[in-house]
Amino acid sequence: MLKRLRPLIYSALSFIVLFYMFAFFLSGSTENRFATVQFDFTPPDAKTRTQAIGYTKNLVPELKNALENDSAFEPIAMPRSGDWLATHKETGQTYAQYLKSNSNRPDRRRNIIYLLPLDKFQNPALKDLASCMESFYGLKTEILSLMPIQGLAVKTRIHPQTQQRQALTTDILSVLKTRLPTNAYCLLAVTMTDLYPAESWNFVFGQASLQQRVGVYSFARYQPGFPGAGDPDTAKARMFRRSVKTLLHETAHMFGMQHCIYYNCLVNGSNHLQETDTVPLHFCPVCLRKAFRANPELPSVRYPRIAATFREVGLTAEAEWFEERVKTK
Ligand SMILES: [Zn+2]
Ligand SMILES: [Zn+2]
Repeated sequence: MLKRLRPLIYSALSFIVLFYMFAFFLSGSTENRFATVQFDFTPPDAKTRTQAIGYTKNLVPELKNALENDSAFEPIAMPRSGDWLATHKETGQTYAQYLKSNSNRPDRRRNIIYLLPLDKFQNPALKDLASCMESFYGLKTEILSLMPIQGLAVKTRIHPQTQQRQALTTDILSVLKTRLPTNAYCLLAVTMTDLYPAESWNFVFGQASLQQRVGVYSFARYQPGFPGAGDPDTAKARMFRRSVKTLLHETAHMFGMQHCIYYNCLVNGSNHLQETDTVPLHFCPVCLRKAFRANPELPSVRYPRIAATFREVGLTAEAEWFEERVKTK
């Protein structure tokens, strides 16, 4: 009996191993299936946070001051039940660990971020999303011509609860790999269609292949009228803010930055919309240092530019954070 079952057991085991290897290469999703496991997360103390930033003595004074300006950043709080850190085991990524990971960086050959719409966009305005991206990362961001999702070889399904059509992310990523422009740092497809990464999953906001430098992100669940999206009267501004957060957060992953567990930070994981709403639109010192390594722009260059763009697109409170830093530097 055992002999007959052995090939079955082996194939089941290989399937599990392959699935996890696959999931490892396809990282970068902010939110995913409903997690039920609870983890005890203790917010790191001041010493651990300082260690995560790393040795700063030999940095240029401006960057050193920006990293050590403690009043600008809030240490991460204890997660509530259902929050990302209560449901996902995250060990964090210090600056030293980031350096060791030898992640992708823009270079002279590959330095443009491409946004590829898979649907017609009115809200959020793609042009404004691109301005935020360009300003935040200091990399030229171009919008490619519409490539309708319906015309692609992408599997879809109807979600049993929302009754909305969902598209399979892995199929979309396969298409994107063949469309990567030669001078692209990365190619990010954006869609108003809800996404799922595998049959067993409820939904996913986005998924990326960091090695292949492609990703796909959906704003479907931020739309007024989508179940759980919130009050339609204030939905437009909220939808834009959430979409910018998603895009900038996911792009941080494209630079090899893993979820931040040290401060309230753009790179915090987020398990539900209310949590997304509390994520700020700036980097903490640990992630700021990583971003500086990816593109060495000093805050005196970066911050006024981001403040101006955020103000222009109506992200007033977020613009104020950067304006304050420019004043107090
Ligand atoms: Zn993420
Ligand atoms: Zn951070």
